[in-house]
Amino acid sequence: MTRIAVIDKEKCSPSKCQNLCLKLCPRNRTGEECIIMGEYGKPEIDENICTGCGICSNRCPFEAIHIINLPEELDKDPIHQYGKNGFRLYNLPIPIFGKVVGILGRNGIGKSTAIKIISGILNPNMGDLSKKEHDVNELIKFFKGTEAQIFFEKVKNKEITIAYKPQSVDLIPRTFKGKVKELLKKVDERNKIKEITKKLGIEKILESNISEISGGELQRVAIAACVLKKANLYVFDEPTSYLDVKQRIIVSKFIRDLADEDTAVIVVEHDLIILDYIADLINVMYGQEGCYGVVSMPKSAKAGINIYLDGYLKEENIRFRNNKIKFETNAPAKMTNENILTSWEKIEKNLGNFQLKAEKGNIYKKAIIGVLGENAIGKTSFVKILAGVIKQDRGEIKEKIKVSYKPQYINTNSDEIVASVLKDAIIGYNTQIVKPLNLKQLLTKKVNELSGGELQRVAIAECLSKKAELYLLDEPSAYLDVEQRLILSKVIKDLAEKEGKTLLIVDHDVLFIDYLSDELIVFDGQPAVNGVVNGPFTMAEGMNKFLNSLDMTFRRDPESKRPRANKLNSQMDQKQKKENKFYYV
Ligand code: SF4
Repeated sequence: MTRIAVIDKEKCSPSKCQNLCLKLCPRNRTGEECIIMGEYGKPEIDENICTGCGICSNRCPFEAIHIINLPEELDKDPIHQYGKNGFRLYNLPIPIFGKVVGILGRNGIGKSTAIKIISGILNPNMGDLSKKEHDVNELIKFFKGTEAQIFFEKVKNKEITIAYKPQSVDLIPRTFKGKVKELLKKVDERNKIKEITKKLGIEKILESNISEISGGELQRVAIAACVLKKANLYVFDEPTSYLDVKQRIIVSKFIRDLADEDTAVIVVEHDLIILDYIADLINVMYGQEGCYGVVSMPKSAKAGINIYLDGYLKEENIRFRNNKIKFETNAPAKMTNENILTSWEKIEKNLGNFQLKAEKGNIYKKAIIGVLGENAIGKTSFVKILAGVIKQDRGEIKEKIKVSYKPQYINTNSDEIVASVLKDAIIGYNTQIVKPLNLKQLLTKKVNELSGGELQRVAIAECLSKKAELYLLDEPSAYLDVEQRLILSKVIKDLAEKEGKTLLIVDHDVLFIDYLSDELIVFDGQPAVNGVVNGPFTMAEGMNKFLNSLDMTFRRDPESKRPRANKLNSQMDQKQKKENKFYYV
């Protein structure tokens, strides 16, 4: 069995613990040099001497040391290792011309490293830290006799040109000041601004300043900027963040159409319905955040996602999650008059030029209600009216109830310590919320030091642990990776089932909403002009209405029972439309 020792150099603070690991290591105590002080004032562990007793990792006050027994199958050198006791990446996803290859896995297990190596930005060291210089020939040798060998020979001969859409599009306004058109003109090597912006639905914002456009617009501008470059490998890192379902589908079709015999596409995506729709093949990635990552053999999109939900790679005989994610039909909440938690009638609200209307609806106790609709259609405003954050102009909310609300945009400026924000969660919901959302390691941080995903998990935990009758989560999946979304789904379901909580969840990840919800509220109208609240409906009714408005149909995967989007005009799509069954429960 291969054992690796990984030290998180940022967390490790030898001056504050007086080199505790060096003193405690039993091998050091017998005079061997298992842990030594390295040249940068941080400890180094000799993996050949280490017995894996785990004392250093258990006693390190900063949780900076990880001693990991790797699966037997990984008894080989990594493709790349970031320094002594650093992160290791095993294997690589390989682009295929004419195909969209998806990468599926949690954050922090080497997706960016893999992309950098594929695109020739990073020369991997194959785990050999003794040499300073490495070249692509080592990769060619490593992958001899496989498709990857041919690909890396092309990289070597500079026959691969890559265009890359980065994950964090919100950083663009910090680096570029000016209009959308100016940014796109700078990168337009294909002279296709008009065609591409039209396809992506951003032709009307060309004269807008980059600093003034919405997150969804910024995402599509970033995709356009990537595609305007001449390349034969396009890489999209999370192309659907900030987009609503309609926009996600448009972008997916657009990206799929890029792949042809001279062009390969790689997509990293956490929305499983979109990944399923966009990818021909999927490489599942697993590992331990910040420690190591492994890229599986490529699978068909269907098999890759089912394997991910199962948490088990059969061919490799690797279990990477203890529990399976199962899609079961949720029993609707008991719909009796005594069981009504709150209701509304003839609600109207004018917000500038935007008008919101909600005719009549009830929320029943212990229900989880999903909310679907386009961007700028009034979902957040409606949720705020229910939460009492804004007051409606007309109509009434009948029963006044206490609402706990997690907004879409979370305040990042507070310098409060996370442990203080989460005091109710720590006391009341340690096992149900704090542990599964992996919040323990954040407790000593300040709120303004948290990343987007960390902040999201803290805000969700704070909202869910308050005393309230209704919990409103506005876009809880934003910034969360696929694994965190699945864990959060389980946390929410358990809180409804075991604690009797009632929840309203607004989100654009349809698989997440399908997995969670007992009922559905569907918004229609015209973005930025008017929005109409429909429902709550049963899942079948609500999804039928929603998918009908998108001209899409969903079937169920017979194995995992998860919803899958049918390709437009496929046999199944046409059959379901004929039967007026846009969705199967
Ligand atoms: Fe020493 Fe290894 Fe035990 Fe850590 S796990 S204390 S390095 S023998």
